[in-house]
Amino acid sequence: MKEADVSEFRKLLMAKREDIVGQSLRREDLWIVQSNEQIETVQLAGQREFAARTLERETKNLTQIDAALKRIEHGEFGTCLDCEEAIARKRLVALPWAGYCLHCQELHDVQSAMDTVEAKLAA
Ligand SMILES: [Zn+2]
Repeated sequence: MKEADVSEFRKLLMAKREDIVGQSLRREDLWIVQSNEQIETVQLAGQREFAARTLERETKNLTQIDAALKRIEHGEFGTCLDCEEAIARKRLVALPWAGYCLHCQELHDVQSAMDTVEAKLAA
């Protein structure tokens, strides 16, 4: 991948990172205000669960972004972590933190879906 392209993606990733971090901070403010207003317990529990799920998703996303930034540093950005083929540019524009090409990602998704089913069956 060209140096100019890589720095374009680095900018995208940094912007997305700031976006997520900024959102988490704003939500913390909101959370404090709401707790002070004595909302009904059920509603509070629901909100807490929602916040926890959002946080979980954002944490995962931040991890992916940081990993992508690290790949940029190491000159490995845009290469699939599994098959080492170049990841399609279109895919990187949509998901700059993508670590796998579409084909390998699909295999991973199937695998993790199967893991979830197996975990549920085992429970
Ligand atoms: Zn691949």
